[in-house]
Amino acid sequence: MSVNSKTPPLRLRLSSAAESIVRAGHPWVFAASVRRQNRPGKTGELAVIYDRHDKFLAAGLFDPDSPIRVRILHRGKPQPLHRAWWRQHLDQALSRRAGLFDAQTTGYRCINGENDAWPGLVLDRYHTTLALKFYTAAWLPRLPDLVALLAEEENRIVLRLSRNIAAAARAQFGHEDGQMLHGAPLDGPVVFLESGLRFEADVLRGQKTGFFLDQRENRRMVESLAAGRRVLNLFSYSGGFSLYAARGGAASVCSVDISPQALAAAERNFALNRNLPAVAACPRETAQADVFSWLRQPPARRFDLIVLDPPALAKRQSEREEAMRAYSRLLAGAMARLAAHGMLVAASCSAHVSAADFFDLARAAARQSGRAFEEWRATRHAPDHPVTFPEGDYLKCIYLKFR
Ligand code: SAH
Repeated sequence: MSVNSKTPPLRLRLSSAAESIVRAGHPWVFAASVRRQNRPGKTGELAVIYDRHDKFLAAGLFDPDSPIRVRILHRGKPQPLHRAWWRQHLDQALSRRAGLFDAQTTGYRCINGENDAWPGLVLDRYHTTLALKFYTAAWLPRLPDLVALLAEEENRIVLRLSRNIAAAARAQFGHEDGQMLHGAPLDGPVVFLESGLRFEADVLRGQKTGFFLDQRENRRMVESLAAGRRVLNLFSYSGGFSLYAARGGAASVCSVDISPQALAAAERNFALNRNLPAVAACPRETAQADVFSWLRQPPARRFDLIVLDPPALAKRQSEREEAMRAYSRLLAGAMARLAAHGMLVAASCSAHVSAADFFDLARAAARQSGRAFEEWRATRHAPDHPVTFPEGDYLKCIYLKFR
């Protein structure tokens, strides 16, 4: 028997406000709302939360180094979280995706963190490679168990770590971002299918887990709008929207991104799909530039379809006002480049800017342009990226059609 088994379970009591919030289903307990704790807790150990009547309320992962002190895994009836429980917990997330994708789409999100009751953990599939990403160090002690559980699912697993936990992961647990956890080593990107298009994902080093899987539904929409249009893809990353536009019969596609690596990946993605006649035939160009300065230049030519998908401009609440101004500049700059009857597809992935506020900004910029316009569509999260709590709601996209 290990020494640990003599240690009493970590027991917490919360403020009554926090108790209600947890009871209502919110996945986070902030440090400031912990009223009582029977002993100091270690990174990743199970914290059991009791209510004011000393009844079991919830259990979650303890994180002594984060303001989010506990991330809830289970609420309701007390239950030991043994292997069968974890298996069932995984199956719940996987069955949520059942039937969403056919064989033409082999890259998608399997676990969307808190929204799938796996707080601070993302699991993305790219063909036969799984990318497991942690946003909290609290998962690190459970890594061997997770790998055992997931290894049944697939033959290669890569570990990804958010920037804020990479140093602690190395120092305290000996884990590295991009580490192979299971299966044959990788020496570069993996290739997967999205809606029948081939893309590479740099699962070892790329942003997020190597690809922006969350934009798939908007990319499909853009394909359906692209025929005969001159398309501009701002903040193109590896050319996701550009490829769909090309397959949709775009007259030309121009991709702009600040990162030469992203544009090189876009080139490789075009090469991966040159067997498709529409892709091979589509004139394309790339511009390596800061989109903000690129849009400040006088518009030399116009486009019929513009995709504007910047990175999260407000990473925290304090950056919100500045981000709103930046979105306005981008929206106005993009609209100034739209030809007659052009369509603007504008997205925001800042959780701190609400959909309502972002859509209002877009409408205000459209009115400012002085041109008649119509709101063609607004979209939210894709079905493999469900949202079940307010902080998890980040993606919104509006389609504005100008006369
Ligand atoms: N639309 C893409 C995802 C965009 S991610 C897709 O569907 O895959 C955001 C991209 O913006 C990244 O590729 C990043 O390199 C780029 N970027 C960040 N700041 C930029 C800037 N100021 N100018 C141009 N590109 C920028």
